[in-house]
Amino acid sequence: MATSAHSGAGHETCGSCGAPSDDTAPVRRVYVTPQPPDLAGPDGGAGGAGSVPDRVEVIDEVEHWCFPCRSLYPHQPVD
Ligand SMILES: [Zn+2]
Repeated sequence: MATSAHSGAGHETCGSCGAPSDDTAPVRRVYVTPQPPDLAGPDGGAGGAGSVPDRVEVIDEVEHWCFPCRSLYPHQPVD
């Protein structure tokens, strides 16, 4: 970490990869967990044959991500 303030605003550190970037945007991280087919019908029950929706978890904390991370990883934009 450099301690010089330089000319200040405009440079942030990406909350995902840690790279310095002047093109970060606020996002909420999203975890997508594919469900194994075994869990399709634990109770022998309801629902479609074969397709189990992925488990999606949106993290409450807002992070600032650089453009490459926003291209690569699932996230939810924050206004
Ligand atoms: Zn990044």
